[in-house]
Amino acid sequence: MAKITFLGTAGGRVTVLTQLRASGGIILELDGEMLHIDPGPGALVRAKQYKVRLRKLTGILCSHCHPDHYTDLEVVIESMTQGAKKKRGVLLMGENVLKGSGDFRPAVSPYHIKLPEKAASLKPGEKTSLGSLEIKATPTRHGEPKGIGFVISGSEKIGYTSDTEYFPGLERHFEGLDVLIMNILRPRNTEWPEHMSTNQAERFLKAIKRKPKLVIIQGFGMKMLRANPFREAAWLGKRTRVKVIAARDGQVIETTREGKKQGLGKFIK
Ligand SMILES: [Zn+2]
Repeated sequence: MAKITFLGTAGGRVTVLTQLRASGGIILELDGEMLHIDPGPGALVRAKQYKVRLRKLTGILCSHCHPDHYTDLEVVIESMTQGAKKKRGVLLMGENVLKGSGDFRPAVSPYHIKLPEKAASLKPGEKTSLGSLEIKATPTRHGEPKGIGFVISGSEKIGYTSDTEYFPGLERHFEGLDVLIMNILRPRNTEWPEHMSTNQAERFLKAIKRKPKLVIIQGFGMKMLRANPFREAAWLGKRTRVKVIAARDGQVIETTREGKKQGLGKFIK
């Protein structure tokens, strides 16, 4: 069973900079592994607030080189390695997070790269292992050109789009998921290049042949918060016949065995 904790649900500059929504990233617990996805501004503080023990982490995934996704990366690495004392855990990143290029500098120092057991960057389509899990990088179309999303496969399959607009072909990478986490910056009828809107999310979900059992939307910008993410989630669910929920800061979502057994999609606690 998977447990997902939202240390933040902010997206876009205004909601991040004002902390109208928190921006600490997502904790995924699956098959004995505990991963921190995109430890943005305040990840340490939010982990404390929501009683998540970062020293238990076994992996960190950082999708791209935008500050709302990486600013707490180095301190979270120090937590995972228990004060930089134990060589443990796996760090997987988009290429610019590790190496930088063009307008982007590396988001992690050479010192911090040496702390985990393994640290590597991934290009879209590349796969690697993390304990018993398989991690696959998915493509994005976003202002940071080397950003990636992730599909994490174990006893359940969890997808994370990261920041991207919808483009035909993206759906291929997100087939047959148990849970799909999507960053949706904008509500209906307010497109913004290189980011997902609810309209784009509808096209994306309709294009997926084997639909996710549960979609969780997050990464909300100001216009989305004003429009009401819960209303957008309800609209999206109705249009696509997929169970869609809008995440709240600090929310914990667990998939349950009962939901699977009864073939009703996953229940959530
Ligand atoms: Zn971004």
